[in-house]
Amino acid sequence: MNIILLGAPGAGKGTQARYLVEDRGMVQLSTGDMLREAKDSGTEMGNVVAEVMAKGQLVTDEIVIGLIREKLETVKANGFIFDGFPRTLAQADALAALLQAEGQTLDAVVEMAVDDEALVQRITARSTCGSCGEVYNDITKPIPADGKCAKCGGTEFKRRADDNEDSLRTRLMEYYKKTSPLIGYYYAKGKLTRIDGLGEINDVRAAIGRVLDK
Ligand code: AMP
Repeated sequence: MNIILLGAPGAGKGTQARYLVEDRGMVQLSTGDMLREAKDSGTEMGNVVAEVMAKGQLVTDEIVIGLIREKLETVKANGFIFDGFPRTLAQADALAALLQAEGQTLDAVVEMAVDDEALVQRITARSTCGSCGEVYNDITKPIPADGKCAKCGGTEFKRRADDNEDSLRTRLMEYYKKTSPLIGYYYAKGKLTRIDGLGEINDVRAAIGRVLDK
């Protein structure tokens, strides 16, 4: 089964995608992670997107569709979780065509609803383990007192360069202008289920599980 996790920056898509990988052996396709990898590896494309990402703007459809196309053509999986993709109507149309070309379907779109104030709080407080990517939050899920990642024991933690208030404002604006129309798009296709993304992490995890098992 292939699903999309849809929601504003900070809604918890990455955290929940990681649970789905653990719980169901699905494969997470995060265009944000792919772009950060490209940025860090210093490729030509990485250099082009670095500035756009730092400002909180969307990278071009052409680039992100290309990244997803390559994955769908090369990775075999029991199911994909699209995390942070699609973010525009053009990307959504492209995804439909790519899945069709691979003989696959889109089974569900889970909209993770979280109010704006909570998003700002979550994003400005978040950090991740440099080794395994486990997500922490200074307030709701702090790094353990011994300074070691609860999951892998790693001792280096990083904050994303674009997790600052300026870039966040732009990211939220981009979400409302370009991504939120996807809610209506997938609703009209009968694929959309909205869940409350504000609850406790395990309640959100269970709610997503119920949508997938429907
Ligand atoms: P994320 O990790 O999903 O929050 O993405 C981080 C940044 O990568 C975004 O603010 C955009 O600059 C870029 N990005 C990620 N996914 C996409 C996408 N599907 N379309 C355009 N830009 C994207």
